[in-house]
Amino acid sequence: MTATLLDGRATAQQIQTEIKDKVAAFTDATGTTPTLAAVLVGEDPASAVYVRNKERACRKVGINSQLHRLNSDTTTSQLVDLVQQLNEDPAVSGILVQLPLPGQIDDLQVLDLIDPIKDVDAFHPTNVGLLSQGRPQFLPCTPHGVLQVLHRYDISISGKTSVIIGRSDIVGKPLAMLMGAKDSHLGPDLCNSTVTVCHSRTPDLPSITKQADVLVAAIGRPKYVTADMVKPGAVVVDVGINRTDDGLVGDVDFEPVREVASHITPVPGGVGPLTVTMLLENTLTAARLQKQVGVASP
Ligand code: NAD
Repeated sequence: MTATLLDGRATAQQIQTEIKDKVAAFTDATGTTPTLAAVLVGEDPASAVYVRNKERACRKVGINSQLHRLNSDTTTSQLVDLVQQLNEDPAVSGILVQLPLPGQIDDLQVLDLIDPIKDVDAFHPTNVGLLSQGRPQFLPCTPHGVLQVLHRYDISISGKTSVIIGRSDIVGKPLAMLMGAKDSHLGPDLCNSTVTVCHSRTPDLPSITKQADVLVAAIGRPKYVTADMVKPGAVVVDVGINRTDDGLVGDVDFEPVREVASHITPVPGGVGPLTVTMLLENTLTAARLQKQVGVASP
């Protein structure tokens, strides 16, 4: 069997077209344009690329973007001042502080300060709490992107066994909450999965991954998931982005796993474009929340 490719770029394009229409309708109705303020601290080249991609995606759908660049020796208190300014600026709908931050900065102090109503990454404890209670105002971008690609290819996870490798606050943990939830804004097929979360201390990982109808890799290790770890016919979602001498590769050993799985996301061109797209959706949601118009839960 050669797996069907889950094309993240095409799916992102389709969703962005929908977002563009919604942004235009919002701007018409309110006379304001949703605006994303991105904060980039230091010179990390990967972070600079991510921020550029986000700015470009904003332009494509009619969202304004602002870039606030700070030197790599910025202090926590300088960054706190900037976040406070952006919180208070009525022209700013969403605030994104690009991670990772330089080591001298207290990440949590900065992220906890972002107004939860402008927290388009959904990292603030208020938004994490709302998500865990099944009443999110924002969905975290990468987990939401994973659900969207499954949704757009009519893949159901309901009643299925799902295994997520990785338990980070950004990907594994919130994705587990969403996949195992009772309800989903994407309908009854995108929730009610029986979810197992694996991590670096999980013994005999293949014995668990081989049970997965849906296997998600969010590890950060190139080609770590090999064909013998995958159940024949499984849906495989590769969140990993690893820079190697051979270019960007995922956490999944793509070619051999493609011969075992029923569906698979590539890297690049899989979950990455969807992550950026869900950030656009959250920026529109933030603008709506601030204007109190047409706010439906995500
Ligand atoms: P992280 O480093 O915070 O977490 C990695 C997780 O993998 C940890 O929970 C750890 O326990 C687990 N892990 C590490 N080694 C393991 C092993 N040998 N066996 C089992 N589990 C192991 O990383 P993250 O922020 O969750 O990101 C994971 C990957 O996803 C990275 O490659 C990152 O670049 C990528 N990523 C991609 C997107 C996207 O849009 N596609 C978004 C966020 C992160």
